[in-house]
Amino acid sequence: MVVTRIAPSPTGEMHIGTVRTALFNYLYAKHHGGTYFVRIEDTDKERNRPEWVDAIWRDFEWCGILPDKRYIQSEHLERHRALLTDLVNRDKAYVSKEPAKDDASRTVEVVRLRNPGTSVTFTDLIRGDVTFDTTELGDFVIARSLSDPLYHFAVVADDGDAGVTHVLRAEEHISNTPRQILIQEALGMPRPAYGHLPLILAPDRSKLSKRKHGASVTVYRDRGFIPEAMINYLALLGWNPGTEQEIFSLPQLVTAFDLDRVHHAGAVFDETKLTWFNREYLVRVPEEEYLRNVLERVHRAHPEWPESLIRTLLPIIKERISLWGDLDATIAAGELDFFFAPPTLDAGRIPDKKSDAASAREHLTVAAKAIDALPEHFVADDVKNALWDYATEKGRGAVLWPLRYSLSGRDRSPDPFTIAALIGKAETLSRVTKAMELLP
Ligand code: GLU
Repeated sequence: MVVTRIAPSPTGEMHIGTVRTALFNYLYAKHHGGTYFVRIEDTDKERNRPEWVDAIWRDFEWCGILPDKRYIQSEHLERHRALLTDLVNRDKAYVSKEPAKDDASRTVEVVRLRNPGTSVTFTDLIRGDVTFDTTELGDFVIARSLSDPLYHFAVVADDGDAGVTHVLRAEEHISNTPRQILIQEALGMPRPAYGHLPLILAPDRSKLSKRKHGASVTVYRDRGFIPEAMINYLALLGWNPGTEQEIFSLPQLVTAFDLDRVHHAGAVFDETKLTWFNREYLVRVPEEEYLRNVLERVHRAHPEWPESLIRTLLPIIKERISLWGDLDATIAAGELDFFFAPPTLDAGRIPDKKSDAASAREHLTVAAKAIDALPEHFVADDVKNALWDYATEKGRGAVLWPLRYSLSGRDRSPDPFTIAALIGKAETLSRVTKAMELLP
């Protein structure tokens, strides 16, 4: 029975790499019908903060990588104390009185492991055999006191008690493994299989960092990435399915995943690719859920914009955004304003660059007539059909720029047919008339 775990320390925002490690542990356990749990490692009292514990749960919930069980390491202190005492009783470890590191005049007591001083070899599931000579570690410290174990001891004790069979964790822990194996052997606990996952790198091949690269779950969530897209992308960061398939749901990942296709080399985090995934997921969001998200974001900035009109804009929004943050930016840039209120026009910009006011007036007159002749309710193609031949004959820029600018007041916007259909006949004609009045 496979048992895996992720053991995050509550010392700050969750790194994207922690999600990837959690995901690989989750996928491996589920693929093999096993269990996966989260253990929060709050042994480092100076650096832990309770709010980061809450953040860890919140981030895993958001990602949808849900554990079968949840633990908090500090709940095991009694057990750690019993195990440490037992080690001391069996002379596998000893309490050492020694000068404090920071102040030699003070004496402290620490617990040291009696290091047998051998070379330790383990077979890493990703890297193969790894050997370390442990003699130079000496009798290393495993606890500050019988009731204050250090990380290496707590990890080994908890993994052993929980029956962890596979420790899949970040590459940076590889040099911790021999120490932990020595503690395990002293405790008489079975050795799990170890697999050290390749690093996630920034494009310049430095280690991807929260501070430098904003690589935290919170940052990505706030930028409007979708969890399913994140998970799909992270699964392919350091692993490949051996096929061309790129889009995977979580259950599909469970089926496809195994460790034999996890790469050895570091994986470069490619934000463009992640954004591509996000767009793939965004266009698949069911209509009503999509609308709910759009309404929430639009109404945050413009509570007065009517839902009915926002609903008609969904195809345009869908076309232009890859993540929800793009919608926020579009709204903030005022790029949707002209759908809700007539734009302020600059008379000099109504004619196309290569044309003049007189021809702009002429083309707008023709366009207004053609639109006026359409039935009350029309679609974009109706406007296009009514004007296309004329625009082709007179020059598309010369005819369509003034119309588009009159309706939107912007250099860039959807085509004038689409805008006209969305704002309706009366509003379209009123904006064209206003533009003509402005022309000299
Ligand atoms: N608490 C350790 C960390 O946050 C995890 C160590 C482990 O997975 O064994 O890196």
